Amino acid sequence: MSISDNLQAIRHRIEQAARACGRDPAGITLLAVSKTKPDADIIAAHAAGQRAFGENYVQEGCDKAQRLEAAGLELEWHFIGPIQSNKTRPVAGCFDWVHSIDREKIAARLSEQRDPHRPPLNICLQVNVSGEESKSGVAPAELPALADAVAALPRLVLRGLMAIPEPTDDVTLQRSRFAHVRQLMDDLNARGHHLDTLSMGMSQDLEAAIAEGATIVRVGTALFGARA
Ligand SMILES: *Cc1c(COP(=O)(O)O)cnc(C)c1O
Repeated sequence: MSISDNLQAIRHRIEQAARACGRDPAGITLLAVSKTKPDADIIAAHAAGQRAFGENYVQEGCDKAQRLEAAGLELEWHFIGPIQSNKTRPVAGCFDWVHSIDREKIAARLSEQRDPHRPPLNICLQVNVSGEESKSGVAPAELPALADAVAALPRLVLRGLMAIPEPTDDVTLQRSRFAHVRQLMDDLNARGHHLDTLSMGMSQDLEAAIAEGATIVRVGTALFGARA
């Protein structure tokens, strides 16, 4: 299967999942996770109509963004990996979105370092809804304080929440994790926030995520094949 074929198949999955729960498929953005994959794969996906790409590693993502911009491709770049505080400057410079904020300190540095002449950086807070098993992400109890702090930063715009629940084939468990993320967003909005983004669902569980309200699904393997 070519990248173009895979892209069509994933778009079809998104449409079917949206239809099954009465949602408009246009409300769901496919984020193509291109980490470890060569520029040629991104160019192929772009030729098939894909615009939003996700990267996990700062240097790799910045290099790709710069090369492909120089080649004339207009793409939207999302950073979805862990961020160390000494790597915030290139993240603030190369990306349009950051999905993986779980500490105020990192957000504050991104806000300081974002070029004021560019649009603000779109931010999702990564929340840990799987408890002990996963180390990244803010605990649900600490989410409101983090959201208040990030929303106050001038060159960031707080858009929503991101989660990577533990992998499982149990669709009921998948849905309960995603429903929890949705509930956390609703709670923040009830406290006066204006979040419109739920970044959740990957190759294996995007249907469950869409059923629970995902607005961005992050798909790597199903689009580009297995990573080495
Ligand atoms: C790698 C990655 C993905 C894509 O996962 P697949 O299972 O390959 O679709 C999505 N989100 C994050 C944060 C990732 O690191």
